[in-house]
Amino acid sequence: MHQLPYDKPGRFYRGNIHMHCDASDGQVSLDDAVKMYQQNGYDFIAMTDHFIPQFDWPITDTRSYRTSDFTTLIGAELHAPTLENGEHWHIVAVGLPLDFAPATENETGPSLAQRAADTGAFIGIAHPAWYGASLNDVLSIECAHAVEIFNQGCAADSDRGESWYITDLALTTGRRLTAFGTDDAHFRTAHPDVFGAWTMVKSEELDPDALQDALKAGHYYSTQGPLIHDISLNSDQSAVQIRTSPVRSMLAIGPRSRYLAKHGAGLTTHEFPLEKFSDNYFRITVIDDSGKRAWSNPIWFD
Ligand SMILES: [Zn+2]
Ligand SMILES: [Zn+2]
Repeated sequence: MHQLPYDKPGRFYRGNIHMHCDASDGQVSLDDAVKMYQQNGYDFIAMTDHFIPQFDWPITDTRSYRTSDFTTLIGAELHAPTLENGEHWHIVAVGLPLDFAPATENETGPSLAQRAADTGAFIGIAHPAWYGASLNDVLSIECAHAVEIFNQGCAADSDRGESWYITDLALTTGRRLTAFGTDDAHFRTAHPDVFGAWTMVKSEELDPDALQDALKAGHYYSTQGPLIHDISLNSDQSAVQIRTSPVRSMLAIGPRSRYLAKHGAGLTTHEFPLEKFSDNYFRITVIDDSGKRAWSNPIWFD
């Protein structure tokens, strides 16, 4: 199971890879934004300001915030014409060069994403549920590594924070996409869009390139609080063992209506048999007593 983080060397680092400061429409300075995350237990961030002419095509330079115990990845939220419904694309690119060139007039979402991917960036399809992206839209970003399956800002905006439905449809077609959760923080007054969801990335070191490689390889999980300590399959891939912080539900979820569920007080371990998923994929969600979730990436069989 090469894409699972748990058997990889290193440790988990906590990061938010989608956020905005006043270089675009965020309501605080870069300095305040970074410090808020540093002071709230994060190991890294990617500042992903809106890459549009209105803000003079910002690629926000966060390198001066890198220390021995905190780092930053260079990123942006890319925009271009258009979804099937006419809205402009939102695509998160993490690990961009600072001189990434502005979009050209006839660049579409898929072509802009590809140009970013060609620089080595991690490409995430942002918040599809928030703006009605279709399955065709999601599948059209062929270079995408991942879909943003939870966005705290979108949850605060319109209760459309969660995008697993379209992600599962894409996965069921055979596309291999991982799944990340973020804040999409804009720091608006009285708008709860910070510290709601984050990624836990397994890496040998707290280094921007290593974290970017781990994101691209899917060596991470996403959470609103619960910890997924381990997910491992037995050698013949007939069962999965899960170990977490205390939760009230553990779910194994696959294509269409396929699932397995274990509910109970204070669950920390469980084993699910895997026959019903073995021709496709499955993923794990756990839910704690306060309703907070953690999500594994999809797991494919060898
Ligand atoms: Zn967006
Ligand atoms: Zn955003």
